Amino acid sequence: MRCGFCQAACPVYREEGTEFSVARGKLILIEAVLDGRSPLTPAVRDALDACLLCKSCRAACPSGVRTDLIMAAGREMAAERHGLGVVKANALAALRRPKVLGVASAIGARLWGLAFAREADGNLWRLRVPPGNLYPRLPALSFVSRLARGELGAVADPESATIVVGRSAAAKTVIFFPGCLVHYMLPEVGLAAVKVLLAARMGVIVPARPTCCGTPLYVNGDRAGATELAETNLAWLSQPGVTLSLSAGDKAGMVLEEPAPVVFACPSCAESWRGYPELVGERWVTAAKEAAGRVVDISVFLSKAAPGTFGEPARRDEWPVAGGPGRTVTYHDPCHLAQAQGVRSEPRALLKALPGVTLKEMADPGACCGSGGTFGLFHVDLSRRIGGKKAKDIAETGADTVATGCPACLLQIRQELHLAGQSQVAVRHTVELLAAALGDE
Ligand code: SF4
Ligand code: SF4
Repeated sequence: MRCGFCQAACPVYREEGTEFSVARGKLILIEAVLDGRSPLTPAVRDALDACLLCKSCRAACPSGVRTDLIMAAGREMAAERHGLGVVKANALAALRRPKVLGVASAIGARLWGLAFAREADGNLWRLRVPPGNLYPRLPALSFVSRLARGELGAVADPESATIVVGRSAAAKTVIFFPGCLVHYMLPEVGLAAVKVLLAARMGVIVPARPTCCGTPLYVNGDRAGATELAETNLAWLSQPGVTLSLSAGDKAGMVLEEPAPVVFACPSCAESWRGYPELVGERWVTAAKEAAGRVVDISVFLSKAAPGTFGEPARRDEWPVAGGPGRTVTYHDPCHLAQAQGVRSEPRALLKALPGVTLKEMADPGACCGSGGTFGLFHVDLSRRIGGKKAKDIAETGADTVATGCPACLLQIRQELHLAGQSQVAVRHTVELLAAALGDE
């Protein structure tokens, strides 16, 4: 149980090089606190907090130790004994209330300049307090708001709290769960995902009021809050009109396949849903297991369900890449997609098949980008050091575009490239490049 194989996989250990920066040391600390051999000191809490929860140690562990579950339990213990702190507690409370979050997001978009200062190149804004983190401007309209206005021919169904796209032409149907980052910060990624699903002859159902998957609460020790959100999502998924076939001639005009896949463009959200059976109350366990079995990353879904749609020779004429040939793309493996779900080949195959695209691998595409959800907010220096290496690896490929399958990685890499003086490198979600090949850009 103490082999230390997790050291080589851990991005924090690579930077800090101390025993308590890696899974083995953190597990020893948790064990000591549980046994009563050590108090839960601020130093212990800091050690538990200084973890990206990237799951690389879990993937590398030859003994199959569920480091992710143990460290989340350690943080839960710390939160129970010492609280979350004012900033985290309020931020996590907002995530539990989608209506409050929606209003806060709309207000935040209008008052953006108060909290953020614009960077010289105009595309990224620097958070004033705490300083150091850069973000794109919060859009005035969220992903679902844009669909609700009829983009891509979307139709709202208030009865089932859904928005339906591609109703008449669809042979099959999928459920697309956007997650908070796509919904509030990167609506263009959500629209690109829907667009490529439509191109793959899918009808798409989207929650009209997306609820957080629960990950930010779970990883920060608020297990009860994460459970509440998981059960809310399962309740939405379980209702007639989402899981069950719609009646003939209804306004959505389509029949759902049983069971419709639940497609994600955010691997952290997908991982969260896959973990629902271990999170929810007893009465939801069966539904959670059934839902977890339907979770699929969009790159895997497109590769399996729509082979030949994206760039097969017979269809290449339909996929002119805007801007002409010569785009060189490098691909970053998100930890929660590559390490946690083992998905590496599918996004690469999709990208390689695009006409005019050359895929050029970076030195260590599976190295963490340093995002880790809220990790970058509270460990700015460590996140910068890890992310700086990623920016260097990307720049050394000479690629004009870096693709990735995770919205959090996308934001982090955009920031790191900017800080490295490499803002000319475009950072895109894989589905954005697929959508661009449909004539989106
Ligand atoms: S989850 Fe990632 S950052 Fe945390 S200990 Fe494991 S490998 Fe290190
Ligand atoms: S967590 Fe796994 S890889 Fe790390 S020391 Fe323990 S047994 Fe070895």
